[in-house]
Amino acid sequence: MKRKGIIIVVSGFSGTGKGTLMKQLVQNYDNYALSVSMTTRSPRPGEKEGKEYFFVSREEFVSQIKNGGLIEYASYCEHYYGTPGKYVEAELEAGRDVILEIEIQGALKVKEKYPTALLLFVMPPNATELRKRLEKRGTESPEIIRMRLARALEESKGIEKYDFIVINDKLEECVRNMHSLIQAAHEMPERNVELIDNIRKELKNVCV
Ligand code: 5GP
Repeated sequence: MKRKGIIIVVSGFSGTGKGTLMKQLVQNYDNYALSVSMTTRSPRPGEKEGKEYFFVSREEFVSQIKNGGLIEYASYCEHYYGTPGKYVEAELEAGRDVILEIEIQGALKVKEKYPTALLLFVMPPNATELRKRLEKRGTESPEIIRMRLARALEESKGIEKYDFIVINDKLEECVRNMHSLIQAAHEMPERNVELIDNIRKELKNVCV
């Protein structure tokens, strides 16, 4: 039986290095597809259209919502972020696991729509390290950093809703750990309903 792809939702406070983790995961292992979100925020230096995000105007974003082009969307620090549905559906169909790097409101909406989605939460080793990483990145003003740290405190209240926590201390170790968790998730009964149904049917047949 062909293995079906699942959605892997990865959330974590701003500055935990989720982006780097995801890129490494996709590079180290086959069978992962990385979804590219749509946002109304401006590109950071080095970010490219269609690679990190599809950068769109507020009007374009709202029209995407109206046309049902997004699986989920949320507002984060005064900007909209959303997941275009077409790519996700096509990759799942092709049997690949699709990674969505999104915040908690979106994560919970995805879980409602796709109950087999796996929810991972990436944490920094500690809060001081998180602040340091945000400051070192140098892409946000002190005011925005303050806003993102306040948001992190808010987001920390939802961590228990996730399936697993991964701590991003050493990059390679964290990537290996994530991969193992995803592989294990595939073997859980709730993600193998068809396989279980089939064996039951077969057992009925051999019993007669
Ligand atoms: P950043 O501006 O740092 O790239 O992203 C800010 C936050 O938005 C991060 O927590 C990121 O995970 C989240 N985010 C990025 N894309 C999406 C999306 O498509 N949907 C939702 N709900 N959140 C997203």
